[in-house]
Amino acid sequence: MNKNEIHQFLAQQKQLDLYRSRSTTDTPQAVKLKQNGKSYLNFCSNDYLGLANHPKLVEAFTKGVRQYGVGSGASHLINGHSRAHHQLEEELAAFVRRPRVLLFSTGYMANLGVISALLAKGDAVFEDRLNHASLLDGGLLSQARLQRFQHSDVSDLESKLSNSKAKNKLVCTDGVFSMDGDIAPLAELVKQSAKSNSWLMVDDAHGIGTVGATGRGCLEVVNATVDDVPILVGTLGKALGTFGAFVAGDEDLIEFLIQRARSYIYTTAMPAAIAEATRMSLKLVDEESWRRDQLNKNISFFKQGLAQAEITGLACDHFDTGSDTAIQPIVIGDVQATMQLSAKLKQAGILVSAIRPPTVPENTARLRITFSAEHSQQQIEQLLDCLNK
Ligand SMILES: *Cc1c(COP(=O)(O)O)cnc(C)c1O
Repeated sequence: MNKNEIHQFLAQQKQLDLYRSRSTTDTPQAVKLKQNGKSYLNFCSNDYLGLANHPKLVEAFTKGVRQYGVGSGASHLINGHSRAHHQLEEELAAFVRRPRVLLFSTGYMANLGVISALLAKGDAVFEDRLNHASLLDGGLLSQARLQRFQHSDVSDLESKLSNSKAKNKLVCTDGVFSMDGDIAPLAELVKQSAKSNSWLMVDDAHGIGTVGATGRGCLEVVNATVDDVPILVGTLGKALGTFGAFVAGDEDLIEFLIQRARSYIYTTAMPAAIAEATRMSLKLVDEESWRRDQLNKNISFFKQGLAQAEITGLACDHFDTGSDTAIQPIVIGDVQATMQLSAKLKQAGILVSAIRPPTVPENTARLRITFSAEHSQQQIEQLLDCLNK
């Protein structure tokens, strides 16, 4: 694009209500936060367990800074890989019950690194149509043939797999879908991948910490082993409340990624103090299991409230069913209407994000409501009242 085209693009985005902008927050990520001096009730963060500002995390982080300083100063393969990183990898591996774990600086980078290391021209990657952008970008970067199957449609996947003559095949899915909150049909995906001799990769960014009896994520629900799902990706910036990501798999896979994942090799290691804080998060996921229970109570409370409410004027696919996770979409369709609803909620002191294309498919703009263990029932009632109006 030249300068003139950029200028026109920006004007057009504004006109279509597709312009993206940031709000500036002055307080920690929490259920109540402040922007420009005004207090808001927050229903758009991914801090599902309320750990991002937990005193024990703050303490572990601070202690980590005192021990290791702030910056890691180098990539993992030079000398940025600290004892804290190493311990976190071992503890994460135990947590997700897999032989090895490799830390990445972000989930976006983990997905890019894994897919592009594993696949090349002549290979094929099969992605759910609603997969996170980073999984799609990883597929594009790899130069493998990218085929998208209908959302959670295992028979569509099956026919695409059986028609493929690719040398290596990778099936790729979100665990919890980030904009819809539904969970992938993992047991069937495991079957199809095994049948077609394909790799299976599950990105459980939103499931780790929240889903499963002990918060091990979507794979816990179906009891999937490392043989069933050889590649598991999780992020640390959501329920675990810190920053970064990991890939879990067997010994060879992890050693291979250390040799070949470019987004692992050519970047600075995350600060060691982040690793120390995340080690505390893992402890809290186990020790404070009431957080997961409370989150689930909050989700049910909202869904019941929504089912009872007469929410008129909103044609919402997802109203009756809702999802079973902390992500509850209210699909509006029209971009302008979605933006207006989000703005009205904000005027009433409630933050709910409006999600527009291309983050979601055309005509499925939506409000994306997310819950935290720290929300009270009274706060959820306040949201329901506001939605009702
Ligand atoms: C948030 C998210 C990512 C990206 O993780 P970051 O650590 O924020 O880069 C990847 N995949 C899914 C499904 C996500 O929701």
